Amino acid sequence: SSSIFANVPKGPAIEVFALTQAFKDDDNTKKVNLSVGAYRTEEGQPWVLPVVRKTEVGIAQDESINHEYLPVTGLETFTRAATELVLGADSNAIKEKRAFGVQTISGTGAIRVAADFLHRQLKRSTVYYSNPTWENHHKIFVDSGFTNLHSYRYWDQNNRQLDLEGMLADLEQAPAESVIILHACAHNPTGMDPTHEQWKEIANLMERKKLFPLFDSAYQGFASGDPDLDAWAIRYFVDRGFELFVCQSFAKNFGLYCERAGNLTVVQQSSATRDMIHSQLTLIIRANYSNPPAYGVRIVSKVLNTPELRKEWMECIKNMSSRIRQMRKLLRDNLVALGTPGNWDHIVNQIGMFSYTGLDQNQVNVLIKTYHIYLLKTGRINMCGLNTSNVDYVAKAIHAAVTST
Ligand code: PLP
Repeated sequence: SSSIFANVPKGPAIEVFALTQAFKDDDNTKKVNLSVGAYRTEEGQPWVLPVVRKTEVGIAQDESINHEYLPVTGLETFTRAATELVLGADSNAIKEKRAFGVQTISGTGAIRVAADFLHRQLKRSTVYYSNPTWENHHKIFVDSGFTNLHSYRYWDQNNRQLDLEGMLADLEQAPAESVIILHACAHNPTGMDPTHEQWKEIANLMERKKLFPLFDSAYQGFASGDPDLDAWAIRYFVDRGFELFVCQSFAKNFGLYCERAGNLTVVQQSSATRDMIHSQLTLIIRANYSNPPAYGVRIVSKVLNTPELRKEWMECIKNMSSRIRQMRKLLRDNLVALGTPGNWDHIVNQIGMFSYTGLDQNQVNVLIKTYHIYLLKTGRINMCGLNTSNVDYVAKAIHAAVTST
């Protein structure tokens, strides 16, 4: 008799994980992995932030810490610190108790809990995300029950810059109450953020059209090296009186990828709705995974709530973001020195972990097949995969790909 599973179709591979596997299987010594979104040191290695290592050793030795369940909505010292990190310690929304956080399974979990809540409680079914965006946005909102999924123009491929006019024109068409996903900083995959002036125009339109901002904040501190500067857009929207969600990840800025430390911050008009929202978020989390993991958020909480450790963390994010900026400059300068056709200034104008190189699919194929340099088919590269030992090789390979195709 045939298996009940016999007709399960095979799902498509997830590109970024498939590329990482292909990279691992490649035995060429010159291979370079520019695909996966994780920090690498100058030596090409993963980096455990020294302040994180020190803190986790301390936690492991702390006899007062046990493995009891956390509350459904997580560790309160963490959610408070995370909410303060994103809104600012002196935020009026916090002072007036109009803002609170619930712990989530990293940034992805925050987006999922947010989407579930918006669909079930506010009956929202329309969402807009940038074109392009992190590919999981679409998947998450589909699984949460959203049925009208749209993209808004964002990237101008010809000029390799933000298409603000297109973005505003598309958002103008969005029905009132649509959920609009905005990348708080270090837009993934383009690395291109709106300027402060452009954010003001976006806010004007969203206020007039009554659109709901959902900020995806996966790179706070990682973009500029300054967490306050990276939260500028969110704080600006909050100051203007928007009610909104912020989905925070601590994967990149603490290097805690697998520990799934995240927070969903809710900003409301008044504190009156807090208990109702909180209770509904509790129910969503309870039925999903009952309660969240403690390991990562204990580290984040300890670091953010201890001034000396927090200072060390600030040094770490400066260190990471400045190494990335240095690689941007080196790659651009190398391409210019080689006389590679085209303008490469966008590489230094972009910010955060990724650069949208503008390379087309043929050029990407040449890089992968001939040069063993792994990157997404959209031409997105992870800047952290570059270092002073391989940037020459990568620039020469890009030059060859661009001049041969
Ligand atoms: N949002 C964006 C734009 C991202 O790039 C990522 C990670 O790559 C996430 C959210 C969520 O990451 P995580 O669930 O690992 O925190």
